[in-house]
Amino acid sequence: MQMPPPAQAALFLDVDGTLLELAPQPDAVTVSAATKALLEHAGERLAGALALVSGRTLADLDQLFSPLRLPAAGVHGLQRRDAQAREHHAPPPPGWHDRLAPRLQTFARRHDGVVVEDKGSAIALHYRNAPGQAEAAIALAEGLIESLGPQTRLLRGKMVLEFMPAGSDKGRAIQAFMADPPYRARTPVFIGDDVTDEAGFQAVNTMGGLTVRVGTIDQSQARYCLPDVTAVHACLRQWLN
Ligand SMILES: [Mg+2]
Repeated sequence: MQMPPPAQAALFLDVDGTLLELAPQPDAVTVSAATKALLEHAGERLAGALALVSGRTLADLDQLFSPLRLPAAGVHGLQRRDAQAREHHAPPPPGWHDRLAPRLQTFARRHDGVVVEDKGSAIALHYRNAPGQAEAAIALAEGLIESLGPQTRLLRGKMVLEFMPAGSDKGRAIQAFMADPPYRARTPVFIGDDVTDEAGFQAVNTMGGLTVRVGTIDQSQARYCLPDVTAVHACLRQWLN
């Protein structure tokens, strides 16, 4: 894997499972001082051409990485804060949230260990603590997608089903970053670990960039693979040394 020289690269990083170890619950995750220092150093080496590209909200990312406030795409691209700290939000269609949220809440109440994470513009159903409920959760999700029609997308992550309005994804978020300085004219590098990152891999491949999936590249559009979060940190440290 040949990384482009930092002076010519733009780095896009997924968060959970890529930069941080996955935790049983998303709010149980913490960020070490070493990880924050690594990101700060990366931002300097890349002249600001760095962004987080996550399923979390921007508010959640800011809290996690505080005091850093990095350029970031949140909720799989529904929210974006560019390098000039301007925010871009794609609001869900009217009524979208209210048609979906009560049905997921009801399901979670009836199935032990299933947790709803309501991000407002997207809603996630986590069953990491209840793997036995996977089948029921997937059946519910498929039924909901059928009844809600094409304005809703279902993202199947690791032990999580995420519903979001159609029209945004991590690939489009990365393209939007790449249209402006300091990213523009640099070579994009995107590291992610999950199916929700595939749109990002596809977009970055199309732009002639470098794509890395954490774990395995079976059935992935990523061209390269790193085994785990520790390897991601080591790779970034060595590259940005
Ligand atoms: Mg991830």
